[in-house]
Amino acid sequence: MSSAIASSSSGASSAAAAAAGPQPALEIGGRFPVLRVADGQWYPAEIVHKRETADRANSQEYFIHYLDFDRRLDEWVGIDRIDVSNPAGTLESAGLDPLASSGGDKTRLTRHQKRKFHEIHHVPQSVEEMDAATAALEREHQELTKVKYIDLIQIGKYEITTWYFSPYPDEYGKQTKLWICEYCLKYMGLEKSHRYHLSQCEYRQPPGREIYRKGNLSVFEVDGKQRKLYCQCLCLLAKLFLDHKTLYFDVSGFLFYILCEVDRHGCHIVGYFSKEKDSPDSNNLACILTLPPHQRKGYGKLLISLSYELARVEGLVGGPEKPLSDLGKVTYRSYWEYAILDYIQSHPSCTVRDICSATAISRDDVQDTLHGLGLLQYWRGSYDLCLPQRTVQEHLLRILPRKPQLIDAACLQWSPLYPKSPKAEKRVRLSASSLEVEPGNRLHEVAVLHKV
Ligand SMILES: [Zn+2]
Repeated sequence: MSSAIASSSSGASSAAAAAAGPQPALEIGGRFPVLRVADGQWYPAEIVHKRETADRANSQEYFIHYLDFDRRLDEWVGIDRIDVSNPAGTLESAGLDPLASSGGDKTRLTRHQKRKFHEIHHVPQSVEEMDAATAALEREHQELTKVKYIDLIQIGKYEITTWYFSPYPDEYGKQTKLWICEYCLKYMGLEKSHRYHLSQCEYRQPPGREIYRKGNLSVFEVDGKQRKLYCQCLCLLAKLFLDHKTLYFDVSGFLFYILCEVDRHGCHIVGYFSKEKDSPDSNNLACILTLPPHQRKGYGKLLISLSYELARVEGLVGGPEKPLSDLGKVTYRSYWEYAILDYIQSHPSCTVRDICSATAISRDDVQDTLHGLGLLQYWRGSYDLCLPQRTVQEHLLRILPRKPQLIDAACLQWSPLYPKSPKAEKRVRLSASSLEVEPGNRLHEVAVLHKV
């Protein structure tokens, strides 16, 4: 690629040049080594976009994509983090190769190092690895969503660095920071507007019925048709952390399940999943997200177990909408292994069909998981369940001690808003009548009037 420096002169290091005065603007498409603050290393990167800043020393800042990595790591950087003296963007000639000490390839990450990084950061398949049609769609998606303007959001007590572009309307989409009300999810561009809003906002919980409460955790069911604005705001918020989410505005065909941590101030959103009201593919979940400050608390698996618990009440067997996101795949795989092995432990002579109906997990997902665990055997043209005691025990020893926090069915008070069939309705009634909620575990009373 040709040099992307508009003014042809500079050969000095960027830091020295930055100190000397205003910098020449770099062109979009140029490739340079860029310093990642997160690990203090230089990586080849491409300039995707640029904008003026109020800061005089860095009058321009650049939105860059690190060539070898997921777009989640794309970011706005000042000129002081770009090595403009090395426009080709190879690290070898600049002596900045982060991998030089490892003795690997000096200009690119080795396959092993790249795979390791991708595993740690849950990086999905690259465009080069996709088939032609998928790659074309992916390129179109990347073009439409290539610049992330909103770097930060403030929601409740958390300031969160965002991961991806989200189509917030009008001027809000071009802000570097948004303030979001953690109760009604209304977004604002100024801190003072946010402060004023908080003094006026009447919400202290999501605008739906509470269907689950245990300890300090509650789940609210919100109908996209009834609470359109809230659900649209939720989708815009979620898109900041999901690369391939496409649903933002047409929310009426979906139900949303909002997981909250509850304290004396109100119900604070920590994550959610959405679900199509009438899924032709028996999908019990469309989109799932745990907000970054609440990741690694086991809430992803808790939400997944809720999606299966609701399916079980409806008498349905299903699974999440595919393809799963990279993070979704990891969480689902772990949940399926746990749920299936837990069932096998107490039903050692079960069949695949038994597992499906007991767990509400689809046949494909059960078979894939069993296959991954080495518990399916190919025999005379078909797969058979094969449960050698020793292998099962090994898996159980590995997985069961780390028991995830799952939904406690006794604390679920739910019947479907949109029953699927008379048969499903009958099962729902049976299930609802057997609910026993412990004293002191009553669902929150809706004390606040909601309006959107
Ligand atoms: Zn509000």
